Amino acid sequence: MSRLVLVLGDQLSLSLSALRHADPARDIVVMAEVADETTYVHHHPKKIALVLAAMRQFADALREAGWDVRYSQLDDTHNAGSIVGELLRRAEETGASEVLVTEPGEWRLITHLRHAPIKTHILPDDRFIASHQEFEAWAKGRKQLRMEYFYREMRRKTGLLMEGDAPVGGKWNFDHENRKPAPDAVAFDGPKRFAPDAVVAAVLALVKRRFAPHFGTLHPFWFATTRAQALDHFVSKALPLFGDYQDAMLSDNRFLYHSVISSYINIGLLDPLEVCQKVENAYEKGAVPINAAEGFIRQIIGWREYMRGIYFLEGPEYPTRNALGHKRDLPALFWGAETQMRCLARTVGQTCDEAYAHHIQRLMITGNFALLAGIDPGQVHEWYLAVYMDAFEWVEAPNTVGMSQFADGGIIASKPYVSSGAYINRMSDYCKGCAYSVSKKTGEGACPFNLLYWHFLDRHRDRFSGNARMGNMYRTWDRMDAEKRETVIAEAEDFLRRLDAGAQV
Ligand SMILES: Cc1cc2nc3c(=O)[nH]c(=O)nc-3n(C[C@H](O)[C@H](O)[C@H](O)COP(=O)(O)OP(=O)(O)OC[C@H]3O[C@@H](n4cnc5c(N)ncnc54)[C@H](O)[C@@H]3O)c2cc1C
Ligand code: SF4
Repeated sequence: MSRLVLVLGDQLSLSLSALRHADPARDIVVMAEVADETTYVHHHPKKIALVLAAMRQFADALREAGWDVRYSQLDDTHNAGSIVGELLRRAEETGASEVLVTEPGEWRLITHLRHAPIKTHILPDDRFIASHQEFEAWAKGRKQLRMEYFYREMRRKTGLLMEGDAPVGGKWNFDHENRKPAPDAVAFDGPKRFAPDAVVAAVLALVKRRFAPHFGTLHPFWFATTRAQALDHFVSKALPLFGDYQDAMLSDNRFLYHSVISSYINIGLLDPLEVCQKVENAYEKGAVPINAAEGFIRQIIGWREYMRGIYFLEGPEYPTRNALGHKRDLPALFWGAETQMRCLARTVGQTCDEAYAHHIQRLMITGNFALLAGIDPGQVHEWYLAVYMDAFEWVEAPNTVGMSQFADGGIIASKPYVSSGAYINRMSDYCKGCAYSVSKKTGEGACPFNLLYWHFLDRHRDRFSGNARMGNMYRTWDRMDAEKRETVIAEAEDFLRRLDAGAQV
């Protein structure tokens, strides 16, 4: 009796465990574009286009490799509209009575499959370096789950940048060399762009027709949709300076030296270990410095793996955490409403155009603002899940709820990632030309980040004043004269009132 092999939109890897455990001579692959998955949050049109186009290309690759693939397009008349619905329809069509699937990267879908009215075998997703069991074993008994220590385990496990038991270059982490402010000129002309082929063009027409009201622009669409298209440009051109300017932000350069590779890895076109090995090779050949190679490899085998570990360790309720009790609604400026705050206007505008912003824009512009302003982390989470091309819950939720919003109470971050305007000014060119003045702390035209920063610290004093890493901040606040502190708080509250009333800020 044949079995169905379900391949999801972020499982586009020929080495997928479900495919490895199946037999092309008798089992049948099911792939389905379904309404449920495209609309449970209002995904950016570019994200929907990437996933659907890459799914269609991957189905062709599977057919070429000898698989019988039953593929449902979104507009097909008999499309059941949900993953489980499509499985049942294909089971009836083929007579199959069992399903093989690699574990989805989201509790929501895992639950649907566990309760599906057809026998379903969920196999581990071994495209990651650490299994759930390994992460649990590492986490067990530790008071704090610091990424740095987990990362060292992953270096030892993979042997990447290792000389025996010791890290290459004598140090595990070269991060202090990776914080240079924005450069005047950027030598990298951005990620490689691909003209849409017939498959991509058909998907773009479909997405334009079905998802026009979603936030985000569809065209131009230049992303890779096949494995063959995805990697070399970054390693040869951007990687050498990746480390130096990792935290910098420039209004007119949306990618700086970033790889723009997360979507390709997250949907399975590229294997994370293979990407890291390419980077290690480039380092060994002398093509990139150690700070760039180590910095990049740390993001992938450190942060990426660690985020997944936390998501599965903490369980399905993790995305709903709200340790700081923040309740404010997400303001309309996150959906593109006009704002005078140039850093936010630029980051949200770029997100709308590209479905991409790099880490520091996500963390220290939109994330920082949401945290300072006390926005409901559930709404912030849904925004990030919707608007970024690389957003899948296992990686998006820990980054947003944990790292950026401190809503998990400090599992991921040892202190909240908050800053006043001074940090944004140091790391970007946004403040030049902003209607607000970054050097003004209060009064007409004072930068809202300056006001909200102190307001945040003040309102969460009980929780954070004892945090050793935040003592200096509280001492600075306490040294200000009382009248100034009152002015800051009153002006911050006035700003928040205007935000709540929907006024342009
Ligand atoms: C609030 C917030 C939400 C985020 N949401 C997502 C998300 O939905 N999906 C996602 O893949 N990343 C997310 N990140 C992490 C990071 O911002 C993106 O991985 C990165 O910006 C992708 O761009 P890039 O490929 O150019 O990365 P680069 O800067 O070139 O980094 C290289 C690679 O390292 C990995 N990486 C780097 N940082 C992280 C991290 N913190 N967590 C996981 N992987 C990391 C990615 O695979 C990335 O492609 C989020 C970060 C924040 C602060
Ligand atoms: S002045 Fe303040 S609001 Fe304006 S760009 Fe700088 S940090 Fe952002």
